[in-house]
Amino acid sequence: MSSTPLKAAILIVSTTAAKDPSADASEAVLRAVFGDEAGKWEVTETAIVPDVTTQIQRQIMGWTDGADSVNLVVTTGGTGFAKGDDTPEAVTAILHKQAPGLVHAMLSSSLTVTPFAMMSRPVAGVRNSTVVVTLPGSPKGARENLQSIIKTLPHACLQVAGADSRSLHKGGVKKLETEAGVSAQPSATPASGGSCYHHGYGHGHGHGHSHGHGHGHGALVRHTKPDTNPISNDPNLGPSRRYRASPYPMLDVPEALDLIKKHTPAPQITTSKVNPDLVGSVLAEDVTAQENVPAFRASIVDGYAVVVPSDGNMRGTYPVASVSHAAPGERPSLQEGSIARITTGAPLPPGATSVIMVEDTVLKSMTPDGKEEEEVEILAEGKVREGDNVREVGSDVSQGSKILSRGEKISGVGGELGLLAAVGVSGVRTYHRPVVGVLSTGDEIVDHDRPGALLLGEVRDTNRVTLLAAACQWGYEALDLGIASDAPGSLEETLRDALRRADLVITTGGVSMGELDLLKPTIERSLGGTIHFGRVNMKPGKPTTFATVPVKDNAGERSAKPIFSLPGNPASALVTFHLFVLPALHILSGEEVPGAPTATVVLAHDLPMDAGRPEYHRAHVSAGPDGRLWASSTGGQRSSKVGSLRRANALLSMPKGEGSLGAGQLVKALLIGSIGPA
Ligand code: AMP
Ligand code: MG
Repeated sequence: MSSTPLKAAILIVSTTAAKDPSADASEAVLRAVFGDEAGKWEVTETAIVPDVTTQIQRQIMGWTDGADSVNLVVTTGGTGFAKGDDTPEAVTAILHKQAPGLVHAMLSSSLTVTPFAMMSRPVAGVRNSTVVVTLPGSPKGARENLQSIIKTLPHACLQVAGADSRSLHKGGVKKLETEAGVSAQPSATPASGGSCYHHGYGHGHGHGHSHGHGHGHGALVRHTKPDTNPISNDPNLGPSRRYRASPYPMLDVPEALDLIKKHTPAPQITTSKVNPDLVGSVLAEDVTAQENVPAFRASIVDGYAVVVPSDGNMRGTYPVASVSHAAPGERPSLQEGSIARITTGAPLPPGATSVIMVEDTVLKSMTPDGKEEEEVEILAEGKVREGDNVREVGSDVSQGSKILSRGEKISGVGGELGLLAAVGVSGVRTYHRPVVGVLSTGDEIVDHDRPGALLLGEVRDTNRVTLLAAACQWGYEALDLGIASDAPGSLEETLRDALRRADLVITTGGVSMGELDLLKPTIERSLGGTIHFGRVNMKPGKPTTFATVPVKDNAGERSAKPIFSLPGNPASALVTFHLFVLPALHILSGEEVPGAPTATVVLAHDLPMDAGRPEYHRAHVSAGPDGRLWASSTGGQRSSKVGSLRRANALLSMPKGEGSLGAGQLVKALLIGSIGPA
């Protein structure tokens, strides 16, 4: 059996203790029971919630649904018959497997103490990889129940956590019993019964039971703060009980963007090699030159290296003593009175002070074979100075000087790569460029290149290829996550996998109000995520949803990954990608100014406004001969209209209103593509 302790969580379910934690006596008692098991258990989590079904479920799922789930959750309280004793129902609704054997063990053990044990209604089972057991509320009852099963729990927990069942069972039940310290006839002698026990099972420590909420049904689970984020539909309840109006508040675009800024995780720092892959990365450090440029005294021209005499007069005829080409290697020293032929960029011979351009010289004589210069006359008028036509060491970039600053982006055209290369920097710290996963959802969606005619109801997947391309275009690695069906399990599994592989996940479809629209419920209920907004006051793109889901990063630290669930209609998906997803990608990749650039443009024609919502109108912007940017609509703006994206390189920010904005009026535009001439 494993030597590292198993992780246990204790959940106190008590409205009284939720108000005043000092009212709880069970936690200490249960900790002691775990402590008695000689290092087998570590209580890593505890929490107190009132007798409210949704809060019980949310807390338990927080411990069972993440990458760092615990092995065991025990609850204490709310298992009796009183109104508000809902813990067994709350827990049952979220169990994946029932464990009636554990229930039986607890009850039969308690019944040997008091017939009132019948008044307890414990449940036990498994959620994901965690065993969950409800204990009564009285400290004594809780202790005795836990004691009655604790010896066998490690075995159950290890199996649930994925230990190989065959090896666990090798040696038979007897071996298991010996290891667990139990026998086939358990002595079942918990401490004697008593009044506390008698009053226990939900009555023992004075629950208020006055919660006055209407949560009779067990399956509504909140993973978001009730006051800020309303709950998504419970898909199990079917279409007749779904919300008929969205429970998410309608935010204005700036409010939504603020939430994205607030909840998008900070960029991660990584080390990157200096090569063309670096284009698009943002530097996470100031970079200093490792070497001087040039690294040696180099000639700026083709000509003759000379040693200038103190009077600076170089006129005269000189023997050509040596030649320096732009090539590595030692050069012989140059003496005053001799000159050396030199090419552009070549090192000056030691002793040389200046270079005379070839244009300022005349060949005087050649070697007898006619192949080399023997003497050259220098025509320089006036004074030649030391350093003339010489690039001094470090005169372009000096070693140790700052060449690039943190926050600067390596462009493909701006010469940053060349600068890094020139000064001998081969690796830099950059912000990790996020990998963007793109998932389409919907039973009707088929691969865009699926051969053959469409069946009735089928729709070709337009969004995936579009968004993958958009992500690439903006410099991010895009991960094709395929199409998820509208079945809840499929979506959950696909998203879990996506969150492992991508830094940010985009889904399209499934965020409207239909009963099959599963994104929000899956994010909230199955992934334990938080929906920061689920409705935005804009056209197109109203149901755009932004959530974060808790994950563990590579270092084992808790962090969050963003999910953007964009509407299924292709125009909505592309507009909301640029408006909302792009700023998050920019934040994740360390860009200082998140989001596509904006510009003020001139309307080339009248443009009607939407009376209900501000509109992001797909438009083509081009530079006019007057030096201004002119915008014309790409046509019909219905959100399903794929054609409205053709040629679109801008989104015009149209205010809501009656009538039209006239030709010549100025509007703000988000530039999403490059701008050409008119
Ligand atoms: P939904 O948000 O799932 O209600 O989808 C809204 C509309 O967008 C429906 O007409 C869908 O068929 C359509 N749609 C959803 N996903 C895609 C996609 N990937 N490509 C093209 N159309 C889609
Ligand atoms: Mg759909």
